[in-house]
Amino acid sequence: MSFVSLKNIVKRFGSVTAVHRMSLEIEKGSFVTLLGPSGCGKTTTLRMIAGLLDPSEGEIIIGGQQVNDLPIHKRNLGLVFQNYALFPHKTIAQNVAFGLKYRDVSKDESVKRVRDALDLVQLPDLGDRYPGQLSGGQQQRIALARAIVIEPSVLLLDEPLSALDANLREDMRIELKRIQHQTGITTVFVTHDQSEALAMSDRVIVMSKGRVEQIGAPEEVYNKPASEFIARFLGTSNILEAVCNGISGDEVELTAAGLGRIVLPKTQVGDLNTSDQVKIVIRAEKLHLLPLTAKPDLQFSVEGVVETVDYQGQAARYFLRVGDLQLQAINMIESSPFSEGEQVSVRFRPGDIVCIPGGTE
Ligand code: ATP
Repeated sequence: MSFVSLKNIVKRFGSVTAVHRMSLEIEKGSFVTLLGPSGCGKTTTLRMIAGLLDPSEGEIIIGGQQVNDLPIHKRNLGLVFQNYALFPHKTIAQNVAFGLKYRDVSKDESVKRVRDALDLVQLPDLGDRYPGQLSGGQQQRIALARAIVIEPSVLLLDEPLSALDANLREDMRIELKRIQHQTGITTVFVTHDQSEALAMSDRVIVMSKGRVEQIGAPEEVYNKPASEFIARFLGTSNILEAVCNGISGDEVELTAAGLGRIVLPKTQVGDLNTSDQVKIVIRAEKLHLLPLTAKPDLQFSVEGVVETVDYQGQAARYFLRVGDLQLQAINMIESSPFSEGEQVSVRFRPGDIVCIPGGTE
């Protein structure tokens, strides 16, 4: 059931429209992520849900109540931003208790809730320290404890991990997810980092230029990108022009630029007619490189040359030349990677192709 709804939300800043008629339904207890490049309107959307910005048009509903005119402190939301903004001269326990100060919570209850919140973020012994005595990761956990202690109906997180170094970010995203599962708080998370969004979310809302491009489970937006923008933004994709030659029974025949004739099941290409232009997307990890001597298999196969190898330890990213095409492949390495200049067999399963309508960018 939907717990947070945005209905036809528009936000204008003077002549700039940051959010264009956005509608969203967020289920109770779910973890959703607003994902998109810088400037696409993620923070503006989150700030409108928080009550830090007023929408120019549209309605925001939380828990069945229209909140457009409800001030931030009456929305019962937990907020965590990139800069954790702890009070430096208050102890950790006082920082966490701050959110309870203006609520009707007894002293005993406050002490208990602060203790529970510190337990939840797995820092039970730091209550007497000051923020300056904590690492960045610990401070961010405290900011989370401070947001959670009020038992918010929605937790709003704006790039909360981006100030942390790479290893800590990975630890913290596991931690955040655990805390969200444990508490069941409906959570809206903003990030421009696709791996964070894919790893943490129940649903990902991909935004571009103030509009929603696609909403779906992480594997859905990754495996079935609805537009060229998403195929380019998430993961590494080869995107080729193709034309539909004809449809026969359950099969569709395409001619793809540089690859030639490819036959796909009709269910895979959507609504398509003969002569329609489409774009086909082949994810870099779905292009498999084999030695030229490898036996033919059921995959589509063309010959190519490795132009550049970007060695990544357990995997390599290859830049390939196939006729006039430049393709990218990301393959796990079993022994040693292919070398630059090497001729290879480039293969993929037609079933791994995603078709998107031509000219959607
Ligand atoms: P980032 O990842 O860089 O934070 P974002 O997706 O969160 O980006 P927003 O901060 O929501 O993007 O900004 C969306 C658009 O609205 C941008 O073009 C931005 O310049 C504009 N914008 C945001 N706040 C204001 C403001 N107060 N006044 C004018 N324009 C603004």
